Amino acid sequence: MSGYVLPPPPQTAVAVQGRAERFAVRRIFCVGRNYADHAREMGGDPTAEPPFFFTKPADALVPSGATIAFPPATRDLHFEAELVVAIGLGGADIPAAEAAGHVWGHAAGNDLTRRDLQAEAKAARRPWDMAKGFDASAVVGALVAGPVLPDAGLRCVVNGQKRQSARLSEMIWPVEQIIAHLSRHVTLAPGDLIFTGTPAGVGALHPGDRCTVEIDGLPAATVTLA
Ligand code: MN
Repeated sequence: MSGYVLPPPPQTAVAVQGRAERFAVRRIFCVGRNYADHAREMGGDPTAEPPFFFTKPADALVPSGATIAFPPATRDLHFEAELVVAIGLGGADIPAAEAAGHVWGHAAGNDLTRRDLQAEAKAARRPWDMAKGFDASAVVGALVAGPVLPDAGLRCVVNGQKRQSARLSEMIWPVEQIIAHLSRHVTLAPGDLIFTGTPAGVGALHPGDRCTVEIDGLPAATVTLA
């Protein structure tokens, strides 16, 4: 008999609109700068570099509607409204022309970021893990199977005030290109999620705030900070 010395961790999963079954999550990948106006607000040149990636642990996932504790170790927690892509068919070196066939569905997401720790990490040329991959840092709304409108509007609303507004068509690297680039670095697998980057207008959240990411055609992703 084999087995585990401790009980295995629970499987993290995302709700699926209209289904009792959930989408089991394997890994969470995120694209760095993918909207030109946000790249500029972060001091970068949107034309200078191919897409780059970082990760969050799968158990950083927060379902829409949750109330989370204000994260520790930060005085500058930021929202980042993003389209989340769910991979249904894995592969390596996926050509962009075939990438759509690897997508299971889409969701609205919020890439919560400890911006002060990210700035320190950038200045010291250190990894971003503690700025991006902390507990409860990946808010994801219910998934919708199939395609998303390529020109859907993306918004972030904090306490009823619109803070970010863009169109998915403004992405520097469209989803097909993101999948092509990422699958050259890792072999993608069913259950992987990809946060596809945020437009301009990122800003701070405070205890008591309610933050909603809306994408046309998808259920909203809402989180409340205790
Ligand atoms: Mn982001």
